[in-house]
Amino acid sequence: MNKFEEMGVNPEIVRGLVTLGYEQPMPVQEQAIPILLEGNNDLLALAQTGTGKTAAFGIPILQHVNTSTKVTQALILSPTRELCMQIAGDLENYSRYIKGLNVLAVYGGANIDIQIRGLKRGAHVVVATPGRMLDLIRRKQTDFSNVNTVVLDEADEMLNMGFRDELNGILAETPDKKRTCLFSATMPKEISGMAHKYMNDPEEITVGARNKGADNVSHVYYMVSNKDRYKALKRIADMNPDINGIVFCRTRKNTQEVADLLIQDSYSADALHGDLSQAQRDYVMQKFRRKNLRMLVATDVAARGIDVSDLTHIINYELPDDPETYIHRSGRTGRAGKRGISVALVGPKRRHSIKHIENKLGKKFERAAIPTGKQVCERQLFHLIDRVDKVDVNEELIGEYMSSVFKKLEELDRETIIKHFVSLEFNRFLDYYRDASDIVAPDESNRNKNSRDRLRVAREGDVRLFINLGKMDKLTVPSLIGLINDATRRKNIPIGKIDLLKNFSFFEVNEAHVDILMKSFKRVHYKGRKVNIEISDKAPSYNHRSHSGHRKGGRNSGGGYNDGGRSSGRSAGGRRSR
Ligand code: AMP
Repeated sequence: MNKFEEMGVNPEIVRGLVTLGYEQPMPVQEQAIPILLEGNNDLLALAQTGTGKTAAFGIPILQHVNTSTKVTQALILSPTRELCMQIAGDLENYSRYIKGLNVLAVYGGANIDIQIRGLKRGAHVVVATPGRMLDLIRRKQTDFSNVNTVVLDEADEMLNMGFRDELNGILAETPDKKRTCLFSATMPKEISGMAHKYMNDPEEITVGARNKGADNVSHVYYMVSNKDRYKALKRIADMNPDINGIVFCRTRKNTQEVADLLIQDSYSADALHGDLSQAQRDYVMQKFRRKNLRMLVATDVAARGIDVSDLTHIINYELPDDPETYIHRSGRTGRAGKRGISVALVGPKRRHSIKHIENKLGKKFERAAIPTGKQVCERQLFHLIDRVDKVDVNEELIGEYMSSVFKKLEELDRETIIKHFVSLEFNRFLDYYRDASDIVAPDESNRNKNSRDRLRVAREGDVRLFINLGKMDKLTVPSLIGLINDATRRKNIPIGKIDLLKNFSFFEVNEAHVDILMKSFKRVHYKGRKVNIEISDKAPSYNHRSHSGHRKGGRNSGGGYNDGGRSSGRSAGGRRSR
């Protein structure tokens, strides 16, 4: 006996489940099926997409259907056409060995007459989107007087989509005495209100930890300025040549724009949002399911209920306002024991959102730097080489062409041929990334900017200070300023010229700040070394302002700070060999 049979599921249905490979019930099924197979209790279930809830409510519904009559006995409402079709298809699969059981899907955007004919023929279970269902009720094409079970699936999403009135209208058409089951991924106040209104002392179940994301999903965020957002997306895609994921945007317009840009840039991508016709949406979904599309750029609403397994990445091109939506988005990867990555591109104003999400998720994000052009090129190159190494060679098929191919290439030696093949595939990346500058996080570029803003023209009264840290210590202009900031507890002391040398450096401040600086650095360590500051015997730069390049170089180019070759020779003397 398998576990479903032990739970009291009919052998015909178990047979259907086995053909689908369902051997063990999933947790939501383990909890809900016994409740729904026995008694009449209502059910309030907090369960996310992908947890197996279709079978949790579907199996008991099918088992209770009386096929000796044609009347409709169960009604399932779901927010989108895709989900509606998916549920109906699943129920048909579970019940394929039950003779004469009819499931009908009715949804908007499809021919209503065909659906009316379906209802007339008799559907034991109707799976519907709320708008179309109410339309059919108003046209008096339904008879729900024998409905004994109503399921509100993805109830939170139906409310988000503004279906409240439709739900009220539909439920008013069903008998008072029935079982109501409400499934929702989140439990906002409106849902509790709805449960209160429509349900009678429901049994409550929660699948997995409440609001927790899947365990095998790792969460990574990148800080990006808005202008770099798209470039960052491309780098992430390029760093992951086997990507198969959903890119979430907040609006239909952005969704289309991002998809268009990706398509223009030769990525395998397309858009899915509510402005597309149903036929277009079906076409896109078909491509995505068949893995002919690597990146589906979608709005939350359009992507609801999409059940595509094996997604490697969820990319939050724009973070949603509600942390629950993030959790929902990220839950589309890392399914069926596979690992998944949920990526967030976070603009300068949304950094706080990460904390909120972490709190809800009960998990930490890892912050990562946008890959550099060089990293992307390396990844692509090795991916290509790996593919060359592992490709299946069909000797039979290519055999007849090979002698002419060898002849054509006979002038080239092995090394040249390899270079040519690699270049053929790889030039696109090299060309794009050759001169690509790094994408710097806005907080860092701001920090640098602020640092640079604090650099000022040298003035009379400036003093040149020696510090026993240099480039060997990985000291940079921003890190030196950060160090001064930290040591002086953010007194924002204006800093003049900085000369970064190999083993030590110089910086200039007004004499009024020297004491505080010297004091502040008494007990400061940097990377494990005690920091030493002394007044240098070399004159500060205002004395040789005739070096007109100094400020310009100092401000605009990192290298400009390093004109201190001159100063190093003279001032620090023996300190050079510390
Ligand atoms: P759902 O949340 O109903 O959309 O289901 C999520 C995925 O899990 C679907 O691909 C189902 O086919 C699959 N599934 C549901 N129940 C089981 C089960 N007991 N064993 C294996 N796969 C299942």
